[in-house]
Amino acid sequence: MKPAPFAYKKARSLDEAIALLGEKDARLLAGGQSLIATLNMRLSTPSLLVDINGLHGLNSIFEKDGAIEIGALTRHVQAERSDVIAKHAPLIAQAMPYIGHPAIRTRGTLGGSIAFADPAAELPACLLALDGEVEAAGPKGKRTISANDFFKGLFETALAPQEVLTAIRVPAAGKGARVGFAELARRHGDYAIVGLAASARADGKGLSDVRLAYYGVGNTAVRAKKAEAALARGDIDAAVNALDLEPHDDVQATAKVKKHLAGVLLRRVAGQLLEARS
Ligand SMILES: Cc1cc2nc3c(=O)[nH]c(=O)nc-3n(C[C@H](O)[C@H](O)[C@H](O)COP(=O)(O)OP(=O)(O)OC[C@H]3O[C@@H](n4cnc5c(N)ncnc54)[C@H](O)[C@@H]3O)c2cc1C
Repeated sequence: MKPAPFAYKKARSLDEAIALLGEKDARLLAGGQSLIATLNMRLSTPSLLVDINGLHGLNSIFEKDGAIEIGALTRHVQAERSDVIAKHAPLIAQAMPYIGHPAIRTRGTLGGSIAFADPAAELPACLLALDGEVEAAGPKGKRTISANDFFKGLFETALAPQEVLTAIRVPAAGKGARVGFAELARRHGDYAIVGLAASARADGKGLSDVRLAYYGVGNTAVRAKKAEAALARGDIDAAVNALDLEPHDDVQATAKVKKHLAGVLLRRVAGQLLEARS
C-alpha cells in the first residue's frame, strides 16, 4: 500500500516547527520508523509532515545538575554508544539493544519513541522506572511533564497538538543506584511480549525506592506498586504474588501467558537488583 497524499515541509527552527504544527492535520516526522509504517498502511493520513530532522541542538546528551538530558532527536544508536548514558543512565543503556534492529536504531529517535508511546516499547517503561521527565515546547513556551503524567493511554500522551517533545531527563544514577531489565520477545528485536524495566536503591541489607515498570501488558507502561513494596521487603515470592497487572490478549500472547511471563521476568529482574547490591 502507498500512503495517502500529504504535503512536506522541512522546519528550519523549533519555532517554525511549532507554527507549522498549527496547520490542519500536521504531524511531526522524526526518524520515521513508526510514522512511515502507519502512513503506508493508511492507519494515519496527515495532510502535512513537518520534518524536524535538521533542527540543531536537539540531539545532545549531557549531565547537568544531577540529571541526564537526552535531546529528542538523539538517534537510538547514538544513545546505545554514549559513554554518558552507559555511566549515568545504565537502565537506558541496557534497554537500547532491544529496540528493533540496527537499521531501525540508526534512524529512530528517542523523542519519537517516547512521543509515539507504544505500550510495548522499552523507552517509555525506562522513563517511568527512572522517574524521569519530558520537556515539551509549544506556542506558549516550554513545560516539563513527569513520566507519571505523560503516558495517558494507548499511543496517547500529554503532549498538546502543537507541542514538540524536545528532550527527556532522568536522574543520574548515584551511589547505591540499582537497575534491572529483562524482556521476552519472539525474536530479538521484535516488540516485547512482556518487558520489565526497574530501578531501586541499595538500602542496608534491602532495597528502597523500588520502581517496577512493565510494558506489553496494557495500554501504557505500568508500575506494579504492590510488587514494589514486597520487593523492598526482600520477599521475591510475595512480590510475584502481589503482581496485579491486567493485560489483554493480543496477537503475541494471551493475558494468562503474559501474567505468567510477568512473574518470570520479575524473578530475573529482582535477581539483578539484589545481586548488584553486594
Ligand atoms: C521493524 C520495526 C521494529 C521495531 N521494534 C521496536 C522495538 O522493539 N521497540 C521500540 O521501542 N520501538 C521499535 N520500533 C520503533 C522505533 O523505535 C521507532 O524509532 C520509534 O518508535 C519512533 O521513533 P522515530 O524517531 O522513528 O519517530 P517517527 O516514526 O518519526 O514518529 C513517531 C510518532 O511520534 C511523533 N514524534 C516524533 N518525534 C516527536 C517529537 N520530538 N515531538 C513530538 N512528537 C514526535 C510523530 O509525529 C509520530 O506520530 C520498531 C520499528 C520498526 C520499523
